[in-house]
Amino acid sequence: MTTNFDALATRILEGGAATEADALAVLRAPDHELMFLVAAAGRLRREHFGNTVKVNYLVNLKSGLCPENCNYCSQAMGSEAPILKYSYLSKDETLKQAGAGLRGGATRVCMVSSGRGPSDRDIDKVVEMTEALKDEYDGVEVCACLGLLKDGQAERLKSAGVDAYNHNINTAESHHDNIVQTHTYADRVDTIGKAKSAGLSPCSGLIAGLGETDEQLVEALFALKALDTDSIPVNFLMPFDGTPYQNTWELSPTRCVKILTMARFVCPDKEIRIAGGREMHLRTLQATALHVANSIFLGDYLTSEGQDALADLHMLRDNGFSILGLDDAGFAELIATHEANAATVHRAHATTPCGSSAGTGCGDGCGGCSVAQAPAPSSAEDNKPVIRARGAGTEVAANA
Ligand code: SF4
Repeated sequence: MTTNFDALATRILEGGAATEADALAVLRAPDHELMFLVAAAGRLRREHFGNTVKVNYLVNLKSGLCPENCNYCSQAMGSEAPILKYSYLSKDETLKQAGAGLRGGATRVCMVSSGRGPSDRDIDKVVEMTEALKDEYDGVEVCACLGLLKDGQAERLKSAGVDAYNHNINTAESHHDNIVQTHTYADRVDTIGKAKSAGLSPCSGLIAGLGETDEQLVEALFALKALDTDSIPVNFLMPFDGTPYQNTWELSPTRCVKILTMARFVCPDKEIRIAGGREMHLRTLQATALHVANSIFLGDYLTSEGQDALADLHMLRDNGFSILGLDDAGFAELIATHEANAATVHRAHATTPCGSSAGTGCGDGCGGCSVAQAPAPSSAEDNKPVIRARGAGTEVAANA
């Protein structure tokens, strides 16, 4: 079995392709073979991406208040998760939030809005935000994620300088209607097609842990391969209290690594991004997973908090990765700046605790508070999503 995965990598490097049977074998490999799997898939990762990690930063432009019923989503109609709720951020607030992520090492800003899809006025706002971002930050990549697109909207985004459009298929077509009923799988594929036709780089991925079978995970990955999306965010279900998936824990750290490994074998030259749920599901295997995947989100997610941005940067440095777009000196300077800021904020909080993020440490992402206050999760209860209470839509500094 060990030799077979290495042989599979060799076959792919020589121009072959993984089959559905190969993908299933990866998902079902025994845990004791995990490092052989990672080593084999890591050959593909290094061939296409070296040891670079692409760092992305999420800005939630509009949070909650969604009329759709995606069962996994804390922003959905009927969700009772106590998330932040707000309508569109102003252009200035968007620039401020995006700037925090870019100064934190991100090269791509992902502007996300809840809702079925944007109105033409929403597109006006995103056009204005994109133009301002491109003016202010040289070389920034902008990805928009605004829901289902109507004719002409993708072209307007492209003209404004938007680089990519995200719309996840989320799961296999054969499982789609079990997780959402207010739109169809075909609706989702249609929007990805509209983005591609307009010249936007298509970004589409999935959420694992929604009750899908192994075969359905394979089905979803091969659908993404057929769609030829440039980047593939792999989310691991964050089971928010107050949603239908509350207390649903189907994933283990090794399972998550195998899912990412399968994605690498099936789509060897695509950006495989470890997305939502990274910390709670991969836990101590986050860095191991980056030997297969090549992209992450820095800091927080749309409605929940990620680990401190400084911890993300330390993880990358300690494991020998570099940040795409930064040379070694730039990376070292970035970490030094974050460490100095964290020390300053933490010293201040030693006398006046920020208290902005109860139970997970400092809402300013100072690092020190988190180390002091956030124990390693020992049960599912400890591991639950922590509702975001900083960054966009709050007065508290972003975690970036
Ligand atoms: S995933 Fe998007 S469309 Fe679905 S409920 Fe959440 S915000 Fe709405």
